[in-house]
Amino acid sequence: MKKDHIPIPVPSSRFQKVTCKECEEMQVVYSHATTPVTCNSCGNLLTESTGSKTIIFGQVVGSAE
Ligand SMILES: [Zn+2]
Repeated sequence: MKKDHIPIPVPSSRFQKVTCKECEEMQVVYSHATTPVTCNSCGNLLTESTGSKTIIFGQVVGSAE
């Protein structure tokens, strides 16, 4: 038995770089965080959890692997 293809976990469920739309401060957020994330600099809401999914309000600029 040979394993050819091992499914890779959904890439979006990882850490992502998000910039604040107010002050452009960049933060690394976990896309499946269960608590809201606010900007370190201005306190603007960057992500909010709805229970099953995280809404990202900031600008996603890439993954932070
Ligand atoms: Zn900010």
